[in-house]
Amino acid sequence: MGIMDDNRHLEETDKKYIWHPFTQMQEWRSETPIIITEGRDCFIKDIYGRWYLDGVSSLWVNIFGHRKKEINDAIREQLDKIAHSTMLGLSNVPAIKLAERLVKLVNASCVTPHAPLTKVFYSDNGSTAVEVAVKMAFQYWKHKGAMGKNSFLCLNNAYHGDTIGAVSVGGVDLFHNTFGPLLFKTFKAPSPYCYRCELGEEYAKCSLACIKKMEETLRVHHDKIAAVIIEPLVQAAGGMIVAPHGYLGEVRKLCSKYNTLLIADEVATGFGRTGKMFACEHEDVVPDIMCLSKGITGGYMPLAVTLATEEIYTAFLGEFRELKTFFHGHSYTGNPIACAAALACLDIFEHEETLKNLVPRIAILEKWLKDISEFVHVGDVRNKGLMAGIELVKDKKAKEAYAWEDKTGWKVAHHARDNGVFIRPLGNVIVIMPPLSISNEDLAGMLAVIKDAIISVTS
Ligand SMILES: *Cc1c(COP(=O)(O)O)cnc(C)c1O
Repeated sequence: MGIMDDNRHLEETDKKYIWHPFTQMQEWRSETPIIITEGRDCFIKDIYGRWYLDGVSSLWVNIFGHRKKEINDAIREQLDKIAHSTMLGLSNVPAIKLAERLVKLVNASCVTPHAPLTKVFYSDNGSTAVEVAVKMAFQYWKHKGAMGKNSFLCLNNAYHGDTIGAVSVGGVDLFHNTFGPLLFKTFKAPSPYCYRCELGEEYAKCSLACIKKMEETLRVHHDKIAAVIIEPLVQAAGGMIVAPHGYLGEVRKLCSKYNTLLIADEVATGFGRTGKMFACEHEDVVPDIMCLSKGITGGYMPLAVTLATEEIYTAFLGEFRELKTFFHGHSYTGNPIACAAALACLDIFEHEETLKNLVPRIAILEKWLKDISEFVHVGDVRNKGLMAGIELVKDKKAKEAYAWEDKTGWKVAHHARDNGVFIRPLGNVIVIMPPLSISNEDLAGMLAVIKDAIISVTS
């Protein structure tokens, strides 16, 4: 059999055996799948030897590119010690070292006095980190004797993952329509989506009407609300919706005022994506619980953490028979290889000065977004650091959206892919999420291809 036959065989075998996530398999079966064999820096190669720029960082996880020497070495070194041992009743060296580093890191930049995040609970993906946060917040109030605090306040357009608890605290209609009867009830607050304000207001004349709305709900129902959960600064999967300045800080104040916990889901925004290590730093906010995953291992291994304050942790302490234990944990919790990869990433952040080097890249992106915003079918452009969304519209003046089934976003993505840039849209929002380490030249090249794709599809 020749290479071509091998490749055809792989394509057929994929279609025969694999059910892909978030994919209409009927469409998948009628197309030729791209099968990746190799990666190098910000590029990925398919079985035919074609290279693509990894414009979505392998779904927002890869921050230093592929085959990064330091991470490869750290994993190999750990592999020669042990691949996995359980955290249920045992501990392991990389998990301990990483917990210490993370606690120092999340509290490093805060200037106002606050209760720091001091405890690390490990799991293995973003949804699970949120699931842990939700259960932790719920059980915390039970231990505090606040039996009525059984619900959560969440935002429209929020995305916190795909498990049932994470979907329950999300605000994406599509999922709620599909799985509604399985989900627990929550209180909802408006999305800080200024381009399409639910309250019909206009920024900044509104003086954050969405915050006032959130306060109304908290004022009436705070004795039923265990926590407010939020994606700080950017509602990512909801369409790269960037909250107006000051919004996050106000949410923090409301949580303190109404005695409810703040859960910050930094799964997408954490680890440099917004230009600071964590999005909360932009508004000097410390949540009571923080969820991290995606970038944590540089896109190498599934790992997540849920960080909590000493106050929350302490509420779970008691005699064995009191049943105050946090009853949650997974088989691969605190996996040593994943933790070793994460430690290597934190080293890279330090010695490559990743955050400092992001500044010129963000400037290139923002200048390009400004150009693009003039296009007739670009309704809105928004970004925070190196995460951006371009909302394509049928009619700019009326802000009329393209019909969902027109798949305009997908057409742009396909055009870009044919020209060597792999991106994945969110409906009609084109997502720009390259690895943080992308060179200025590659970033400019990527943006040129996407610009061409937008022009060609929308004109
Ligand atoms: C991706 C994402 C999740 C879910 O993470 P998974 O690892 O895909 O389960 C949760 N919250 C946010 C904000 C995300 O972007």
